[in-house]
Amino acid sequence: MKPTDVLRNLPSVNDLLNSPALKDVAERANRSVVVGRVRRFLDDMRQDIKQAADFHVPDAQELAEHIARWMVAADAPHLRPVINATGVLLHTGLGRAPLPEAAIDEIRKVSGGYCNLEFDLVEGRRSQRLRAVEHDLCELTGAEAALVVNNNAASLVLTLAALALDKEVIVSRGQLIEIGGSFRLPEIMEASGAKMREVGTTNKTRIDDFRQAASEETAALLRVHTSNYVVVGFTEQPALRELVALGREKNLPVIDDIGSGAMFDYGKYGLTDEPLISDSLQAGSDVVLCSGDKLLGGPQCGLILGHREHLDVIARHPLMRAMRVGKLTLAALAGVLRLYRENASAEHLIPVLSLLSTSLENLQNRAERLAPQLAAAEGVAAAEVIEDRACLGGGSLPSQSIPTYCVALTPDGQSVDHLARVLRSATPAIVGRVQNERLLLDMRTIFPREDRLIVQAVAQLSTDAENAHENDPQE
Ligand SMILES: *Cc1c(COP(=O)(O)O)cnc(C)c1O
Repeated sequence: MKPTDVLRNLPSVNDLLNSPALKDVAERANRSVVVGRVRRFLDDMRQDIKQAADFHVPDAQELAEHIARWMVAADAPHLRPVINATGVLLHTGLGRAPLPEAAIDEIRKVSGGYCNLEFDLVEGRRSQRLRAVEHDLCELTGAEAALVVNNNAASLVLTLAALALDKEVIVSRGQLIEIGGSFRLPEIMEASGAKMREVGTTNKTRIDDFRQAASEETAALLRVHTSNYVVVGFTEQPALRELVALGREKNLPVIDDIGSGAMFDYGKYGLTDEPLISDSLQAGSDVVLCSGDKLLGGPQCGLILGHREHLDVIARHPLMRAMRVGKLTLAALAGVLRLYRENASAEHLIPVLSLLSTSLENLQNRAERLAPQLAAAEGVAAAEVIEDRACLGGGSLPSQSIPTYCVALTPDGQSVDHLARVLRSATPAIVGRVQNERLLLDMRTIFPREDRLIVQAVAQLSTDAENAHENDPQE
């Protein structure tokens, strides 16, 4: 058909709205939204027809069904559950730490109605919102005072803005980190209004470099945990105790950005480089900063812990108000902290820690059970169980990797990227990692309850593919 004939034969908006497929949708949804979408769909189609040499126009019923499917897909919530088969425990793209049940319960309890977020129920007057967590944070870490903000980048900006505006903060050239592209230490420091005074070299910085740089202009000494790289070979950084001694001598606070918020020693899981909040405070840091959604295993937030003298100054800064957390975050954090306080076995109840501590034997058994079921799936030529290394965070140290087992899928016919895309389109979406032309599903980050979901989702894909073939007249 010629484009002009095709255009003339297009069904009208009314024809489409009255066809069975859309009538249903139009009755359930807001009518003006449905009408608007049908118009937009037809407009787009007219453009396509004008540009195409030959165009097959479906009849009104077929077209209505097509539009209805398109609308259902467009209305699906953007945020949806994902099975993390990447082997990256704290994957920023996948929302970092999954929350423990206890934290989800706390959110549910306080969020459907009103709660005493900033209200003292005994005195009947306004109170402080951080009361919900301050006591637990101090008790668990040994800090004198604690603040919570939106994330750890905010902790650093706020701390520097409050303690070092227009003054110098001394930091080693070996610790000018970039994390995940959007956190670059020099830029964060500049945004805070503090002046970065870098000392030493990339590989070697001594305490004397800090001493020589300290002047009337200095407001603080900063140490930053280099969580995603290592400088090896001929290297040196001043020990925290040396920085603390210098800080005391010059009357300058020491700020320690430790990043991951480890509550206890993870050495037994093979993670040996994660500084503990309590160790840093005990060594004499004045202010310790970390993320709530890294090894702490809680909601996204930034913790500022340390001496009351400094924390009072930080709490009074106007940016504190701009970076404050909401009741959902506080409820979740309170739930996580209670697990650390009340349970010797917190590691079994905090998802990140339970994944980290799952035995290799368990991972291997589950991988061996999954492999034959996945090998039978459409588009998969072979599924083999292999040993590999998982890791803590997107850019965490290679030396911080954790042993794991994976199911390695070899694609059948199509490319490995195609197979990866197909699994990402499953329900729930499955995100693995591509390695040597195979798609690896890493058991380290898959919860045991998800094994069955993976098999079901993959089987569903095979069924969908078969149906698609049957319905396609060209095949
Ligand atoms: C992750 C990290 C940050 C940033 O924390 P967010 O909570 O992602 O804002 C800052 N400093 C260090 C050392 C980190 O590891």
